[in-house]
Amino acid sequence: MTADTDIAGHDFIRQIVADDLASGRHARVVTRFPPEPNGFLHVGHAKSICLNFGIAAEFGGLCYLRLDDTNPVKEEQAYVDAILEGVSWLGFDWGPRLTHASDYFEAMHDCAVALIRAGKAYVDGLSAEQIREYRGTLTEPGRNSPDRERPVEENLDLFARMRAGEFPDGRYVLRAKIDMASPNMNLRDPALYRIRRASHQRTGDAWCIYPMYDFAHTISDALEGITHSICTLEFEDHRPLYEWILDQLELPARPRQYEFSRLNLAYTVTSKRTLPELIEPGHVSGGDAPRLPRLLGMRRRGYSPEALRDFCGRIGVTKKEQLIEMSLLESCVREDLNQRAPRAMAVLDPLKVVLTNYPEGQVETLVAANHPERPELGSRELPFGRELYIERADFMEDPPKKFFRLRPGGEVRLRFAYIIRCEEVVKDAQGNIVELRCTYDADTRSGSGASAERKVKGTIHWVAAHAAQRAEVRLYDRLFTEERPDAGERDFKALLNPASLERREACLLEPALAAAAPGDWFQFERLGYFVADRVDSRPGQPVFNRVVGLRDSWARARG
Ligand code: ATP
Ligand code: MG
Repeated sequence: MTADTDIAGHDFIRQIVADDLASGRHARVVTRFPPEPNGFLHVGHAKSICLNFGIAAEFGGLCYLRLDDTNPVKEEQAYVDAILEGVSWLGFDWGPRLTHASDYFEAMHDCAVALIRAGKAYVDGLSAEQIREYRGTLTEPGRNSPDRERPVEENLDLFARMRAGEFPDGRYVLRAKIDMASPNMNLRDPALYRIRRASHQRTGDAWCIYPMYDFAHTISDALEGITHSICTLEFEDHRPLYEWILDQLELPARPRQYEFSRLNLAYTVTSKRTLPELIEPGHVSGGDAPRLPRLLGMRRRGYSPEALRDFCGRIGVTKKEQLIEMSLLESCVREDLNQRAPRAMAVLDPLKVVLTNYPEGQVETLVAANHPERPELGSRELPFGRELYIERADFMEDPPKKFFRLRPGGEVRLRFAYIIRCEEVVKDAQGNIVELRCTYDADTRSGSGASAERKVKGTIHWVAAHAAQRAEVRLYDRLFTEERPDAGERDFKALLNPASLERREACLLEPALAAAAPGDWFQFERLGYFVADRVDSRPGQPVFNRVVGLRDSWARARG
């Protein structure tokens, strides 16, 4: 789909893996997905999950799910639980390979001691502010810390005392001794360990020093025998540090790091750090808020894991900046649901219709196929009677030329039922239309022979008043009014689309939908794909989310 994706489904990273296996450089590919449990996974993570787990599956390798839990202050068990739930919902199985950076704290500590012994790391007493000052800038080299030449024995002693809890947070850091003049800021003696007197959700109070990301990540990769350490482009400048760490230490494997561009989705934000800001009163609520592009939000919204995996396959893996249109994600969702969702009828904005020539008290049962292309999905019964509801927008008193739905004196077919004619429009004192009085043509029942096939231009959906199930339906629109709400310095909360959620509380459904179980999908004919909300919906009291409309509604946003 792009220049870097030359073979269908075969991106540059898969090409590297294939070459490495062919050349015998590796006998088996080992990858990992390493989320930090400080937030919920989003659609960008889905890309990374599909890439790492996908490569392992396609090439007969292994993929670890490694929780990168090196910052106890920001991490929570609730995030861990949601991460596991999200990855397995997406359809990936880590088997026995669920690991934590904290599993390796002891080994990391030993690596730090080895670096000190080799004269490659030192304990620095500069304050955080001084360290920043000494670091220099992109155009000026940094300066050596006065502690840089501290003797090895003293470093070992101080590091041991850091670990023993003798010092307060920030008093010392352990730094790698690389090059304060390096053009790459990451190599200007980066911190490897800091003091943090915080309880860790797994190791409790066993540690009061914690390894920094680069150190922990590199060692974890090596200990797990990761062959291809795949990450996003912002880590490109960290790769020399990754390699420096591997060069200094004796570790069981020599992983290589490869970078690809992050997924950005238009009209929404995907950063873990910006999403929580939206979870405030007046914004969008809850960890699985259906409007947020998080894995659990998308599940609740009604996206299937198959659709998301299809999407991740279609966007490809490259090094180019990637801003993907929401319409691509939605077309994957739509294609998937077109296959799996049974059809049904629902009226979201009901207008009453009375068939004046239909005998009072009479009802009948019509039969409707559940899916036009999948007879194995069977059919259902549709009650029909004298009073019905149609969609308010399907009637116009004074319509334009190409309006093929109902108008005064005009005819329309009721889906799976009869042709009706509008005879009279009933209004209230304010002039609002409250009811249509119509007649039906008893010879035009769908599927009942030649006369039934009399043609009219429009067909509309409906529900029978006596059997209708009342329901709440939630309609979603794009979350932001601008394509890149998080670009630049603006307060993106001000760019939230006030119409991104519309609740319709008095919708009417055909009775078969009353039994919908949470998570069940339907296509409401002519309206889109809907899912029974997995949190709020109950049999007999259904609540539906619109997953996606039947057609791409993003064109207007782009135009
Ligand atoms: P955020 O910027 O949202 O806080 P993060 O990169 O800090 O995300 P991690 O938990 O570190 O979140 O992410 C785990 C993995 O997911 C990393 O390898 C990261 O590169 C990858 N990842 C995160 N966001 C995206 C994205 N938008 N597109 C592709 N991969 C992503
Ligand atoms: Mg990160």
